[in-house]
Amino acid sequence: MLRQFETNHAFFLALDEDMLLKPFRQRAGLAAPGEEMGGWYDNSPDFDPHGTFHGFIPGHSFGQYMSGLARAYAVTGAAATRDKVQRLVRAFAPTITTKFYDDYHLPAYTFDKTNCGLIDAHQFAGDEMAFKVLDAATDAVLPHLPAKAMSRSEQYAEPHPDEAYCWDETYTLPENFFLAYHRGAGDRYRELAVRFLEDDLYFNPLAAGRNVLPGEHAYSHVNAFSSAMQAYLTLGSEKHLHAAQNGFAFLRDTQSFATGGWGPDELFRKPGSGEIGESLVKSHFSFETPCGAYGHFKIARYLLRVTRDSRYGDSMERVLYNTILGAKPIQPDGYAFYYSDYNNVFAKKGYHRDKWPCCSGTFPQITADYGISSYLRDADGIYVNLYVPSRAAWTRGGSRVTLTQRTHYPHDPATQIELSAAKPESFTVHLRIPAWAGAKTRVAVNGQRVEVPLTPGAFAAIPRTWSDGDRIEMEFDMSMALEKVDPEHSNIVAPVYGPLALFAMGRPAPRQQRSTLMAATQTAKGSDTWSAQTGSGVLEFKPFPAIGEEQYRLYHEVEG
Ligand SMILES: [Zn+2]
Repeated sequence: MLRQFETNHAFFLALDEDMLLKPFRQRAGLAAPGEEMGGWYDNSPDFDPHGTFHGFIPGHSFGQYMSGLARAYAVTGAAATRDKVQRLVRAFAPTITTKFYDDYHLPAYTFDKTNCGLIDAHQFAGDEMAFKVLDAATDAVLPHLPAKAMSRSEQYAEPHPDEAYCWDETYTLPENFFLAYHRGAGDRYRELAVRFLEDDLYFNPLAAGRNVLPGEHAYSHVNAFSSAMQAYLTLGSEKHLHAAQNGFAFLRDTQSFATGGWGPDELFRKPGSGEIGESLVKSHFSFETPCGAYGHFKIARYLLRVTRDSRYGDSMERVLYNTILGAKPIQPDGYAFYYSDYNNVFAKKGYHRDKWPCCSGTFPQITADYGISSYLRDADGIYVNLYVPSRAAWTRGGSRVTLTQRTHYPHDPATQIELSAAKPESFTVHLRIPAWAGAKTRVAVNGQRVEVPLTPGAFAAIPRTWSDGDRIEMEFDMSMALEKVDPEHSNIVAPVYGPLALFAMGRPAPRQQRSTLMAATQTAKGSDTWSAQTGSGVLEFKPFPAIGEEQYRLYHEVEG
């Protein structure tokens, strides 16, 4: 996690500023020095919705790169990072013109990211100018936005020069509009947020318990759940909370692979259709990984914060260990990891065909947020959400409290947490007991087993007056399970060990015995390799982050 964060931080800190600003300067008629970025990022007439994506959405990810840097500054305090964010805001300001969005495929899509970048520059990089720039950017985009949020089918029903004009994501706008309002950018952002809540076709039916996900574009509709959560947090709208809760439940229970990823070919599927299982032979575009994981983490954090339901944390660790942690780093020329491939034949990791895709924008954002995804805090204490080597420090009763976690989880199913405090402090440490945890899961404080109930799928609360040097030790009862890809393919299964999906390496026989898969064991304590004896030799398994350039297979056909 740290290596991914540091790699992305260094990458975007070094990225040429003239290149980043080029499409904005060109569309404003300003001098535009520097190279073209290529891929989705350029102004180019090449774009063809059924062919090359060169020139698809010029400058689309600029705001995300700025957001990722602002968040990296919040994490590291690196002055060079703050200075770069502030320089980008200042250089972006004179390029703002409503002409930018003339003949532009996705005005709301790109503006939403610009908005995010500017409010994060203000919030995390102390940029006092960012709200003024946001006001100008908002004035520039408003003439290009529809009166309300538009679903894809509503967009297809309107006249459009080419199909890509129907892919705008106005329904994701409210989250960042609400955040702009919260952070002090002004009341109009609250009004704009309300205007773009997609109640009619999305949140109203979701709130009523209707699964309207099938057929929709996957990532942007998960991202929209975060707009519903901001509507709940800002307006107190219970309906929007229910929409987000039900939407997430439909996502987890009706759309997900064993990895926690979802949306093959970027589309949600109809429960009962068997299409998720069929995607294993029809598609290599199984899960849009950086964007999907980013959206998944964001909505899971909102829901954790409001409900304290640890199962949202369970879903985060699945997505962490089985998808985003295995994403390959962005290449210097802009080629980026996009889809995880769960195809039954010739599945491999690779880079997206076009440079600088959406996933190059969300990757630095999710990795900068690994810290806030790991712990949550309230007046009563702290929630340990992810079991990762880390340190969390906060002020309590006027003094500093530090929690240090040392672990090789999940390869070693245990973690040690040490508290340090200038003087004893009373608070509660909440530990996530994963839903998959077995009966032998143990928690001890200073070597004494704690007597609180350890309920799988809930946080275990340990209230105590904590003293300097107190130690929490956790041992997780992890075991192997086989998870079917969907109810229509109950004989197509993936082996899952605790939170880890295990990918068979190489080109194993398509049919396996259940007992063979269930017998896979770790080759050594702490190892990232599992193995099982088959009739034709040893089958080796690895978690997604341990896979390099090799072929692999996630799902297997079993009898019965
Ligand atoms: Zn993406």
